[in-house]
Amino acid sequence: MLSKFERYPLTFGPSPIEPLKRLSAHLGGDVEIWAKREDCNSGLAYGGNKLRKLEYIVPDAINSGADTLVSIGGVQSNHTRMVAAVAAKIGMKCRLIQEAWVPHEDAVYDRVGNILLSRIMGAQTQLVDDGFDIGIRDSWKRALAEVEAEGGKPYAIPAGASVHKYGGLGFVGFAEEVRAQEAELGLRFDYIVVCTVTGSTHAGMAVGFSADGRARNVIGIDASCTPAQTKAQVLDIAQKTAALVGAGKITADDIVLNEDYAYPVYGVPSKETVEAIRLSARLEGMITDPVYEGKSMQGMVDLIRKGFFPKGSRVLYAHLGGAPALNGYSYTFRNG
Ligand SMILES: *Cc1c(COP(=O)(O)O)cnc(C)c1O
Repeated sequence: MLSKFERYPLTFGPSPIEPLKRLSAHLGGDVEIWAKREDCNSGLAYGGNKLRKLEYIVPDAINSGADTLVSIGGVQSNHTRMVAAVAAKIGMKCRLIQEAWVPHEDAVYDRVGNILLSRIMGAQTQLVDDGFDIGIRDSWKRALAEVEAEGGKPYAIPAGASVHKYGGLGFVGFAEEVRAQEAELGLRFDYIVVCTVTGSTHAGMAVGFSADGRARNVIGIDASCTPAQTKAQVLDIAQKTAALVGAGKITADDIVLNEDYAYPVYGVPSKETVEAIRLSARLEGMITDPVYEGKSMQGMVDLIRKGFFPKGSRVLYAHLGGAPALNGYSYTFRNG
């Protein structure tokens, strides 16, 4: 579906798929859990899902003649870290708006983890005191105008690289990659579990897996805690992406978003999220974070315990990255 689109390689190639045997056994053994390790997909600043999206956005940025990538996220945004890495890699400047999306008080929250890495990579980071919103923000528009006023040529990348005409393409490619890996492994995954916030990861997967009838087997676990807005954005991106790549129509029923695990709010882990982070770390040595993957891990574990997946199912957990944010949550894990 993607051959007509230009791609700038930022990842190592197909990300690995591995079985999570101890976690599967711990949860009763009725469901086989596997992980696709998008968190290990690149050598660029610890990798993650945004790079797969940016592979299809970077050619447009280069062709536009821009000299500065401008993007936005929370203080501990993985996405802005990835944009900073890409700017360094392709030789552009980078300006990042880091908003106060998370009501989390850790003494060094704005000094460690993702924002630390972005600063090391030379990005200009600007802290802005606005709350969580996955939509288009004024602070970001102001940053674009400032780059222009200073004589630069900005290229705008929205939050999560999602609401961009090419934002959904990378994860259409993810589905194609999974199909090829399934053929190699000689198996088929019945469900794909994915953490959903700004939406183009889930949207791309829904389009990619619609090709073999599995759009509704992509189980989005909301971590935004604004699920109506997130679901609408996933559907919108999926429909636009389907039209762009020439896939079949995507309807609201094709987007499955579970709202039960995002509490108490975006970026703040519940007690159950923290338990899920410990569980996957202690059984598999697989690190998940309090903002995203800990919540999708919590969701998958709870759904397995509740018998949501029929006995014998094979579930693919899409590990999208995000571990650097853990540094902003050291107090939560002070005793392990
Ligand atoms: C951005 C991100 C997500 C959510 O992906 P969206 O495409 O924004 O829905 C999940 N996990 C991690 C680690 C992320 O950085």
